[in-house]
Amino acid sequence: MNDMGMTPPVPKRLLGWYSANQDEMPWRGCGDPYGIWLSEVMLQQTQISTVIPYWHKFMAHYPDIKALAAADEEAVLEDWAGLGYYSRGRNLHRAARQVMTDHAGQFPEDPEEIRSLPGIGEYTTAAICSIAFGKNLAVIDGNVERVICRHQTLSGDPRKGDTKVQLRQIANTWLCTDQPGDHNQAVMDLGRKVCTPRNPDCENCPIAEDCNAYASGDPHRWPQPKKRRPIEKQQWISALFICGEELLLFPGNTELLKGHRGPILSRVTQPDGNIEQALKRELKERTIPLQEILGYGDPYRHSITHRQLEVQPILCRWCGPIPEDVKKIVPHAAGKLPVLHRKAIESIMPLLSNASIGDHAEGITDEMHS
Ligand code: SF4
Repeated sequence: MNDMGMTPPVPKRLLGWYSANQDEMPWRGCGDPYGIWLSEVMLQQTQISTVIPYWHKFMAHYPDIKALAAADEEAVLEDWAGLGYYSRGRNLHRAARQVMTDHAGQFPEDPEEIRSLPGIGEYTTAAICSIAFGKNLAVIDGNVERVICRHQTLSGDPRKGDTKVQLRQIANTWLCTDQPGDHNQAVMDLGRKVCTPRNPDCENCPIAEDCNAYASGDPHRWPQPKKRRPIEKQQWISALFICGEELLLFPGNTELLKGHRGPILSRVTQPDGNIEQALKRELKERTIPLQEILGYGDPYRHSITHRQLEVQPILCRWCGPIPEDVKKIVPHAAGKLPVLHRKAIESIMPLLSNASIGDHAEGITDEMHS
């Protein structure tokens, strides 16, 4: 309550809380639309603590849009390695090139022009417009949905129908037009730090006084839980080819990590889960002759969106000329590859130093040829 015994409006309380509790983030207050765009793309589906070192790396390697547009896609994806959801890195690079050709290298201010860039949706448009350009667009992400649905006890799916419309109306009504960027960050921060999915800290919430969910005594009832896409279990092989001391990286051409160089991936589709057949099939499709198998690494698990992969690494020795589109690295330099590939390389490392592997390999290779 203020001196007059009245509760200030929600936006005022949110901004007051934000100015006292905001976390330091390197892109906050940088005022550079490029740095803000970079942060917003990286933050999609990814935690702040994970994003910070990547943001610094990109700002150092590609300090502006021109530098990012001029880089090779492969180099950008190498720098993105470990951040996941690689289509974001690819779209970031494509968007930088589009800004160079369509906007003479100046990040556009118009929401429709921003929205038309690859990888930018409604949320990211509102975030960039409000934070970088002070435009009055309310951001709605999962955190904002939770705060508003609880405060207003909105039932129904917040991403559909009437509930979605109501949510948008309330977000627009709350928006503090003097400081739209700070306001949007305040609501998102409140959802992330106070109005959390489990055990919201209502006692310390600046908008608890008029929060309907808090008054109900059970804030967890809002918002309506999302329907989760079922997890699909899949079996894959990762075939790693060595030539002398070096590991060969092939262009990625499967649904996983398309466009990334790495070991050869192939999905095991036979009902009996025959990993050798999966290897044979993939090599045949790539017109690569069958190679000598040296051994098998420990299988490992890896999750990508709704898929839970069980991957069997297979170490092979490369014989014959090396195709032009194949890159060579020493195995210890695998740090720039996506995590899925790094795990495969880690799992075959003990085999690389196993001197007796040649004896064992012959038997396995004979089996494959039979
Ligand atoms: S009072 Fe509790 S439920 Fe309501 S907005 Fe604050 S943290 Fe969320």
